[in-house]
Amino acid sequence: MSTASTPGAEPPLRRDRPVTLDIVIPLWNEEDVLGLLFERLAETFSPARCAQSGIASVRYVIVDDGSRDRTAEMVRAAIDRGVPALLVRLSRNFGHQAAVSAGLDHATGDVVAVIDADLQDPPELIHAMTARWREGFDVVYGVRQRRKENLLKVAGYWAFYRLLALLSDLQVPLDGGDFGLMDQRVVAALRSLPETLRFPRVLRAWVGFRQTGIGYDRPERQGGHTKYTLSRLYRLATDGLASSSVRPLQLAQVFSFSYFVLMFVLGVVVLRRLVFSDEPGVSPGLLLTYLLIASGSFVQSLCLYILGAYVGRTYLEVKRRPAYLVMETVPPPSTHGR
Ligand code: UDP
Ligand code: MG
Repeated sequence: MSTASTPGAEPPLRRDRPVTLDIVIPLWNEEDVLGLLFERLAETFSPARCAQSGIASVRYVIVDDGSRDRTAEMVRAAIDRGVPALLVRLSRNFGHQAAVSAGLDHATGDVVAVIDADLQDPPELIHAMTARWREGFDVVYGVRQRRKENLLKVAGYWAFYRLLALLSDLQVPLDGGDFGLMDQRVVAALRSLPETLRFPRVLRAWVGFRQTGIGYDRPERQGGHTKYTLSRLYRLATDGLASSSVRPLQLAQVFSFSYFVLMFVLGVVVLRRLVFSDEPGVSPGLLLTYLLIASGSFVQSLCLYILGAYVGRTYLEVKRRPAYLVMETVPPPSTHGR
């Protein structure tokens, strides 16, 4: 890669002019909410409302992440009706994070927003985000203040973001999802990052530039069902942690070393007792042995678990497979120009 054209190094856009806006929307089996989504987007980005915010044109970059229902057909029909959208169909379900990456790779607007399809990210906020961008920010991300979701999920997310803050050297915003708006040069910087396992909200924190958050209350899903089962959430969380920090690996070393010191000290104590004391005291000795073996196995398995998490991801990464494959775009690539 040439260093002469560092992505993002191009001069910033004039922010006082009308801008083109791309909105990336990942979709996986969302036929139940699509109608509502298009209605809400049409209201939110009516010509009058766009003129007020200085948005010259808006386009929805819709990524169909291998839906098995009528999602793709419905988007295609909407495009035929004149909805300003680009449909990017992935060849199978690659997962939310890969779908967002695919959308960002196809986004060419001066500013690019990312929202979920289920209207949990209120599209109206994009106007406020554009206003913050005009003030000079390159990334404006949504910060979830209150979530209308089940308690386990709310607690899980809360713990995840605190753990991420504790473990990561990056300033990943607490309670910020993918919802947000970015300057095109930030998108270009994201696109230039070579990794296959992509976690857009962590990469966005990594690229830097001037970032700020906007608080909002996260409403309930407006139709359909959540796509995040417990096991998918677990993968999301561990991918997020592993991709943003190697501190758990260092912690594993600290655990192992501390255990070694503990063993050594106890070994000395036990040896001294054996040599210098006449008391029989077999049972405390047995107990101690048991405790040492049990805690030793615990530390070892924990370290193996942490190591495994990184080794697995390293294996996936060295294969250098792309994060997703595109099966088709509508309209086709030759007519993408805005
Ligand atoms: N999504 C996707 N691929 C997946 C899972 C989800 O494109 O494998 C999309 C989904 O259609 C939605 C967004 O990602 O637009 C967020 O998913 P969801 O609302 O189910 O997540 P939650 O809000 O429950 O965490
Ligand atoms: Mg949702």
